[in-house]
Amino acid sequence: MSKELVIISGKGGTGKTTLTSSLAYLMKDKIIVDADADAANMYILMKPKVKYSEKFKGNPKAYIDPDKCTGCDICRKLCRFDAIDITDDGVYVVDEIKCDSCRLCEIACPEKAITMKDVFSGEWYESETEYGLFVHAKLYPGAENSGNLVTMVKHRAHILSEEKGIEYILVDGSPGIGCPVISTISGANFVIIVAEPTPAGLHDLERVKKLCDSFKVKSGVVVNKYDLNEEKTKQIEEFAKKEGIEVLGKIPFDKCVPDAIVNLEIPYAACDRIKNAIEQIYKRAMELL
Ligand code: SF4
Ligand code: SF4
Repeated sequence: MSKELVIISGKGGTGKTTLTSSLAYLMKDKIIVDADADAANMYILMKPKVKYSEKFKGNPKAYIDPDKCTGCDICRKLCRFDAIDITDDGVYVVDEIKCDSCRLCEIACPEKAITMKDVFSGEWYESETEYGLFVHAKLYPGAENSGNLVTMVKHRAHILSEEKGIEYILVDGSPGIGCPVISTISGANFVIIVAEPTPAGLHDLERVKKLCDSFKVKSGVVVNKYDLNEEKTKQIEEFAKKEGIEVLGKIPFDKCVPDAIVNLEIPYAACDRIKNAIEQIYKRAMELL
């Protein structure tokens, strides 16, 4: 079975994709996965050629049959999500974005006018890139269920790795500690948490570390832009020591990194100042995987 290395962070914008894309550049024999379906951005740097795509079904949403509805108003009063509305013509309709798929209205409607309908909430893709096979996805605007989509994308990557005898899976995870992150770290062999030396950075790291511990997943820390606040970086290192997790490396600030991303270049390939740090992180991550 292939080994899975996951990169996550406590919030967006900490340098997670910078690190993942750079590791994708260095790592051999892997499948790359973008599990950040809510805000997929790895494809911008991977420049994939899509070979296969499929639509993804989210939770079913309530649908009101206007021919059966008598306008008794029971469903609208019961819906805790204010998802049922009346049009100017007096027709009862459901706002799919607000509908939480709880089915209460379906059960309560005396006329059996409400049914739950499947809706597509996103798409997933298998692609080829210069850096290896790439499995990625995107959610439609306002769509939910990114946790299920992440699970599906990772599952697909494991099937492909088995079929093709590929040793590693490199996953760009979602930020935060919500459902898609839980799906991302489940089954991972090692998780790198990217932290930044800001007042919120340590707090974010604590939350994500706790999440990894809850799922009994081994984790380590990378401090991005560490030299922007050496005092906060020290606090992150002290926290890591106290928690018994390793700081795999510290990436210096380099104005070249955002410029590289804007130019659709992988930061490791474009920016000399971060090269040593990324190589050290890569080496250590492969030892710990
Ligand atoms: S509960 Fe049924 S009949 Fe009553 S308003 Fe809603 S859909 Fe129409
Ligand atoms: S399924 Fe639940 S959330 Fe959706 S419209 Fe019906 S009562 Fe509201």
